Amino acid sequence: MKIQPAERVRQIPPYLFAEIDRKKRELRAKGVDLIDLGIGDPDIPTPRRVIARLIEAAQDPGNHRYPSYEGMLDFRQAVADWYQRRFSVSLDPEKEVLTLIGSKEGIAHIPLAFVDPGDYVLVPSPGYPVYRVATLFAGGIPHFMNLTRENGFLPNLSTISAQIAKKAKLLFINYPNNPTAAVAERPFFEEVVTFAKKHGIIVCHDAAYSEIAFDGYRPTSLMEVEGAKDVGIEFHSLSKTFNMTGWRIGFAVGNREIVGGLGKIKTNIDSGAFQAVQLAGIEALNGYGTETEEIIGIYTARRDLLVNGLRAAGLEVESPKATFYLWAKVPNGYTSAEFAALLLEKSGIVGTPGIGFGDAGEGYIRFALTVGEDHLREAVGRLKELKI
Ligand SMILES: *Cc1c(COP(=O)(O)O)cnc(C)c1O
Repeated sequence: MKIQPAERVRQIPPYLFAEIDRKKRELRAKGVDLIDLGIGDPDIPTPRRVIARLIEAAQDPGNHRYPSYEGMLDFRQAVADWYQRRFSVSLDPEKEVLTLIGSKEGIAHIPLAFVDPGDYVLVPSPGYPVYRVATLFAGGIPHFMNLTRENGFLPNLSTISAQIAKKAKLLFINYPNNPTAAVAERPFFEEVVTFAKKHGIIVCHDAAYSEIAFDGYRPTSLMEVEGAKDVGIEFHSLSKTFNMTGWRIGFAVGNREIVGGLGKIKTNIDSGAFQAVQLAGIEALNGYGTETEEIIGIYTARRDLLVNGLRAAGLEVESPKATFYLWAKVPNGYTSAEFAALLLEKSGIVGTPGIGFGDAGEGYIRFALTVGEDHLREAVGRLKELKI
């Protein structure tokens, strides 16, 4: 029997990092000491207080059974309390907050709740690949909004035709942004809310990096903007804020019908997040601030080290206000994939070519600040020798 993947799987664009992965394996096998700046996964451990709470909660048989679909009310209350403290936004924990098994899970499922086959979804390019793939899985058509340096890596909503806007159901945005490290201010979010209201589009804001910001900068929540709760949902994750990527816990907040719609899909697919993990999540959120300064200090030192090193090597890069990424321009004469291959082969440095995040990512390469200063210093030395 010939196993045929479904059309929705076949239409996923080819995996652009396959060639890099193959080269990585080959070089590792040869004993090359690779410096991997390719992966957005914090190397800093989860706070001890959170781990201690998990251990305690895991021993309680009351936590061994199926959790509730929408998440423990205590966890959702902790989310609402955190929003009040952090953004001065009030949320009803029962109707406006939903526990997620990591925010990727919620982002991947939301098109199933609101997108019919043939509907458009406005997707940033470059962008987190899940927005595009989740749209395709729901039978939707991604309409790409190019993020350009001239526009501060914000989408230019005025270039979206009335025809497309009319058929669009969802609009994905993500600030602080992966991969460009750009940030958005309140006027942008206001513009997005006005645009969404005019055309009847649901705004999905991915705020995974809202707490990874430097030099005293405090990113804005979409929910701070008047009217956002009429049209929007915001996705958050404990992954980046508390170094908990492996734990799979996140949450969505916002308009009760949108949150409820996502919840309805989830009740039919998963059976909720492990209660012990939610209890550890409550500990993380209630103690928010305990480790923030230390974590930000680590990323700030790494950011400065690599920004200076890249510039000294002749690469053009802005020093970001937020996220743990650097979005550097590829030198003239190279595509992003060619330059990533050169860095890997000649210097053993792994970066992610911008094209992997969408066509508009061409011309850039992303470096993640998720390795220690020693390795970054070594990377900077190798870059200098490369003589770009
Ligand atoms: C890391 C990341 C996420 C999701 O992380 P989870 O671990 O699934 O919560 C979502 N969006 C962006 C842009 C990310 O970089």
